[in-house]
Amino acid sequence: MQWETVIGLETHAQLSTVSKIFSGAATRFGAAPNAQACAVDIALPGVLPVLNRAAVEKAIRFGLAVGADISRRSVFARKNYFYPDLPKGYQISQYELPVVVGGSVSMVVGDAEKTVHLTRAHLEEDAGKSLHEDFHGMSGIDLNRAGTPLLEIVTEPDMRSAEEAVAYAKTLHALVRWIGICDGSMQEGSFRCDANVSVRPKGSQTLGTRSEIKNLNSFRFLEEAINYEVRRQIELLEDGGTVVQETRLYDPERKETRSMRSKEDAHDYRYFPDPDLLPLELSESWLETVRASLPELPQAKRGRYMREFELSAYDAAVLTSSREVADYYEDMIRTLKGGYKLASSWITVELFGALKRAGLEISQSPVGSRQLAGLLLQIQTNVINGKTAKDVFEAMWNGEGEAEAIIAAKGLKQISDTGELESVIDGVLAANPKSVEEYRAGKEKAFNALVGQAMKATRGKGNPAQINEILKKKLAS
Ligand code: ADP
Ligand code: MG
Repeated sequence: MQWETVIGLETHAQLSTVSKIFSGAATRFGAAPNAQACAVDIALPGVLPVLNRAAVEKAIRFGLAVGADISRRSVFARKNYFYPDLPKGYQISQYELPVVVGGSVSMVVGDAEKTVHLTRAHLEEDAGKSLHEDFHGMSGIDLNRAGTPLLEIVTEPDMRSAEEAVAYAKTLHALVRWIGICDGSMQEGSFRCDANVSVRPKGSQTLGTRSEIKNLNSFRFLEEAINYEVRRQIELLEDGGTVVQETRLYDPERKETRSMRSKEDAHDYRYFPDPDLLPLELSESWLETVRASLPELPQAKRGRYMREFELSAYDAAVLTSSREVADYYEDMIRTLKGGYKLASSWITVELFGALKRAGLEISQSPVGSRQLAGLLLQIQTNVINGKTAKDVFEAMWNGEGEAEAIIAAKGLKQISDTGELESVIDGVLAANPKSVEEYRAGKEKAFNALVGQAMKATRGKGNPAQINEILKKKLAS
């Protein structure tokens, strides 16, 4: 039997507002427990929620960025359940009428484009947190998180593999940071995913029973949890069992998912409109103001890079993975004439390699965009070859200054003097009669060996194109 995997993701993105969604308490991360929980957050009797306009604006930004419908009227509802970290006994969320409806996210998986449709995105408040250490056999409750604004973004069951789910999550993660609505910190819990996973016989049109894996806070865990869950469900079904609809947790240490509780149905939560909050009504003029403030979006930029700069889908996706990277690239090509692919490969290979080894973000790069462009200009004008450029890059990385100065100080200028190269090559040909013979007998590889010898003789500074040309000429005669 061939199986097909079906995945839908629910993502909680913490909206980067200064204060909470229904109170004036701060949202800053890392404060002492309960230092940022006010009367509203701890649900003292008689207090009322007041909606934070900044949280709504960020939800609108998101909706516009994914081409969704923005509901002109949406409603806050109470989702009732009992848990120690939920002081009110209900979470304020949106249920029947969410603020964002539909929309889609397109991404690149491998070198192919894939679109994931969104069901909805709604505003809600986060709960608090139970602390199980340091309390001598008891648990503590920290309500700093209670009332933190979240946007829950729900997809259709459109993904067919863990790889696609991760690609979607990464694209969404990049998007929310790009439009400035979420800081994306996964360690601090600002961006976390629930994965709904089911399998069905290939070709079947009906959905299988799903399980929901909660709170995956890294892309690696997301991938591992889905792959484990798919294997578990297939084995279960092939052994004649049935999948039960349930909520599961991923244990990264044992790399397995475990049952947490049977899945509640919506009616278990007794949703009803919150009488303390008016329906949220949005004016056209506000939507237009928000629309006008959106930057060029990653998807549009990616398409433009492919069209205007003839980059591959993959390279265009890498260069638009964050605004910082795209800005770096655009800054470079403003300085260079053409060189779109050259700049792209220097960023994605050399710069990213060095950043990764040093554990740095591009915003912390010791080599700035103008500086790197200055180096590539030296390649474009044939002052140095690509190989020497790597050495110059390393010197720049180590703070030795601008490319031009380093090249002058170290005498790295490429040898493009035809006379000089010809005499070097005459020497190489005289010293390697065997390679010459082999080349003339039709062995292409021998040619590369001779090029290598000539480069060596110039201590890496020979102009490779010229060396090739002169060698060909001399060998043909
Ligand atoms: P809830 O989890 O709150 O009950 P929904 O039933 O709307 O909400 O589904 C939530 C998520 O589960 C959505 O992303 C949806 O695409 C996904 N989903 C629903 N059914 C399946 C299924 N059979 N297999 C995989 N994903 C599913
Ligand atoms: Mg759910």
